[in-house]
Amino acid sequence: MHRLPKDSRVHRGEYEVKVYRAKSVEEALELIENYPDFTLFAGGSDVSVHLQEESIGGLIDITEIESLKVIKLSSKSIKIGALVTINEILESEEVLEHLPLLHKVCETFASHQIRNIATIAGNVINDSPVADLIAPLLVLNATVILSSLESQRVVVLEELFDGFKSLKMDREIVLGFELPIEQGSFYYRKVGARERLNITKLSLVMFRTDDEYRVSGASLNSYVKRFKTIEKLLESSCFSKSELIKAIEKDVSPHSNAEYKKRVLLKMLEEALVEIG
Ligand SMILES: Cc1cc2nc3c(=O)[nH]c(=O)nc-3n(C[C@H](O)[C@H](O)[C@H](O)COP(=O)(O)OP(=O)(O)OC[C@H]3O[C@@H](n4cnc5c(N)ncnc54)[C@H](O)[C@@H]3O)c2cc1C
Repeated sequence: MHRLPKDSRVHRGEYEVKVYRAKSVEEALELIENYPDFTLFAGGSDVSVHLQEESIGGLIDITEIESLKVIKLSSKSIKIGALVTINEILESEEVLEHLPLLHKVCETFASHQIRNIATIAGNVINDSPVADLIAPLLVLNATVILSSLESQRVVVLEELFDGFKSLKMDREIVLGFELPIEQGSFYYRKVGARERLNITKLSLVMFRTDDEYRVSGASLNSYVKRFKTIEKLLESSCFSKSELIKAIEKDVSPHSNAEYKKRVLLKMLEEALVEIG
């Protein structure tokens, strides 16, 4: 994990940023309450890039909260703590066996060094339209466990997102995610400029169970969401290419290179249907 000096200051150009280190979730929540303009620091791979921005009043370092670093398997689900890193997900035999889609996505994530510090919650809460983990978590029907000073709540992950960089959270910390163990087949492709160390140009994630198709992808809207029109069309089992093109028009609205991305998405959807039916 990234280490920050204890209750210290880090330099931000000409400025300095105050850092408080929380040893428990309760301590972190009290700091959030007392310093509402401070930002949580998990792996720091996103936050560090923004340190110069005035909106970051200071940092609350949560890297030492051990209770958030656990992957726990039960008969029906896997819980992944907020501070579990991408490399820890890759090393988990439980994830490989029961959530192979998530394992596969993590294989394409950044470099080994970044995967060593980047956490699952950091990726989701940074809420980038190109984040790699949100789409697979959405199609795997993940729920997110949140805590405030007053209470805890569990919500379907999809309900957390509400537009570009707009999360329905208020002075809360993510404790972790719960993913049901389900039988299903999946398709995943990430398109980028390079084969390795790629920032996603676009991706498609599809998970098929006996009852339904769940589809999502990154860099195709202002925030990552499920493609509900496409899902419904695929479930109708008999449809034409032009209907699929119309469904793409409804579900995606890329910020850049829109026509290119829609064409590639169509190809990937066709490939997915050949691969997983
Ligand atoms: C060189 C480089 C390559 C990258 N490559 C990729 C890539 O291939 N794919 C990809 O998706 N991303 C990539 N990223 C982005 C980044 O690494 C990921 O988004 C990462 O998962 C962020 O996790 P973190 O722990 O570092 O988050 P941090 O930077 O610590 O935090 C990110 C945000 O989440 C909030 N946060 C963190 N933990 C919690 C919590 N428990 N509760 C509430 N809020 C929380 C923070 O306050 C902050 O707003 C890359 C970044 C760099 C610098």
